[in-house]
Amino acid sequence: PVRVRFAPSPTGPLHMGGVRTALYNYLFAKKNNGTFLIRVEDTDQTRFVPGAQDYIMDALHWCGIIPTEGPGIGGEYGPYVQSERKEMYRPYAEGLVENDKAYYAFDTPEELEAVREQAKTMGMPNWQYNSVTRMSMKNSLTLPADEVKRKLENGDPYVIRIKMPRNHDVRFEDMIRGWVTVNTNNLDDKVLFKSDGMPTYHLANIVDDYLMKISHVIRGEEWLPSAPMHVMLYEAFGWEAPRFAHLPLLLRPDGNGKLSKRDGDRLGFPVFPCDWTTAEGELYSGYREKGYLPQAFVNMLAFLGWNPGTTQEIFSMKELEESFTLERVSKAGAKFDPEKTKWFQQQHLRAVSDEDLAQLLIDQYGATTDKARLTKIVHLMKERATFPQDILTEGAYLLERPAVYDEQTVSKKWKEDAPALMGEWLQQLETLSDYSAVSVEAAFKSFIAEKNLGIGAVLPLFRLLLTGQGAGPSMFEITEFLGKEEAIERMKIGSS
Ligand code: GLU
Repeated sequence: PVRVRFAPSPTGPLHMGGVRTALYNYLFAKKNNGTFLIRVEDTDQTRFVPGAQDYIMDALHWCGIIPTEGPGIGGEYGPYVQSERKEMYRPYAEGLVENDKAYYAFDTPEELEAVREQAKTMGMPNWQYNSVTRMSMKNSLTLPADEVKRKLENGDPYVIRIKMPRNHDVRFEDMIRGWVTVNTNNLDDKVLFKSDGMPTYHLANIVDDYLMKISHVIRGEEWLPSAPMHVMLYEAFGWEAPRFAHLPLLLRPDGNGKLSKRDGDRLGFPVFPCDWTTAEGELYSGYREKGYLPQAFVNMLAFLGWNPGTTQEIFSMKELEESFTLERVSKAGAKFDPEKTKWFQQQHLRAVSDEDLAQLLIDQYGATTDKARLTKIVHLMKERATFPQDILTEGAYLLERPAVYDEQTVSKKWKEDAPALMGEWLQQLETLSDYSAVSVEAAFKSFIAEKNLGIGAVLPLFRLLLTGQGAGPSMFEITEFLGKEEAIERMKIGSS
């Protein structure tokens, strides 16, 4: 059975790229009737950021990326937070030592630093603890057995390192990139278990993927260099490795480099799903707080690295769940496009029913107008809006008389004879009893025909008096919405 996981480290807020990884895992699970779970990888205590885990869970929830197993949800393979699984890892690391796949190393951080420094001065800046250099270091492969025993009994600090074999080709087939081959001479003896009693990311990740029966590892391209080492670890344990799929990078709009958390400020565009305030009080803005609909955000993200192979661009989560395949994920980096993101938002906003959008404005934007009226306002304003709140700000004149009149329209259109012309149109409106849009439109058309004037000579004046604006939705629908009494009051202000 398909079991996939999203394995964030709570080192800060989730960036768009992280949400996309979670989304593709979720979609892959749904498409294959599998299970999607969340596992928090917090073994690196030095990088732990308070609040980050809650942020991640909250952001995924907002997106509708809901795990079946995970922290706060439970499941058969829990706990789902690695620090709560702490005790599980040591036996696995020690088992590898017993089978000669790993070894104890006793070098102190100062000693390691000194070796690196010396290597640097000798023109070898990339010194690695590997199958060659380990022979000159302090470890259980080079020290006499009784000294190793003494050190361990003595409680001397140690780490456990993988014993990377010499000159062996590691091969695996990535579902997106195809076959990857790396020679172990290029790999170092990574630390698996640290002196503080905690596993490193590598060990905990592999042990947990094994214990949680993960079938596919779908993650960002930045983990591709670690994958050969992970494959070696599976081999060392004698476990079957899951299948791997490394997702393409998210690039800046100009294609110039990786999208970073700082790019939000540069682009004037969020790169986080939700607002995040750092401990220093710095705010990184999020899509949610800007007014993006989660379905628009998710649709946009889905297209950053994937396409359905058809011309369809607007997808609901359900449709994405049905259409998503890893075969259609590209190898090439995906350029983030702020304009396209806005377009997705507009399309999704229009797709929400007038009534649901009215409810959203009441629930989330503090609208106090009664629902029926608000629904009509939404109907009038929706097509021109990008964000839900635009409907309230741009449609404010539907509820309140205009306090100011659009300057450009006044100077261009409001000529000397305008008050008299509007006075005559006002008379027509006063005698009209049916204020439906159709009826107002018919009255207006016969009025301009009688006056032998074009629409452009009259309608902008009418709009100016009723709304204060130079443009907007149908004037006849606006008039219907305002009703006879209010329309006439607004007309009087500019008519003689
Ligand atoms: N904890 C890793 C991260 O933060 C997970 C990488 C993986 O999926 O293996 O990205």
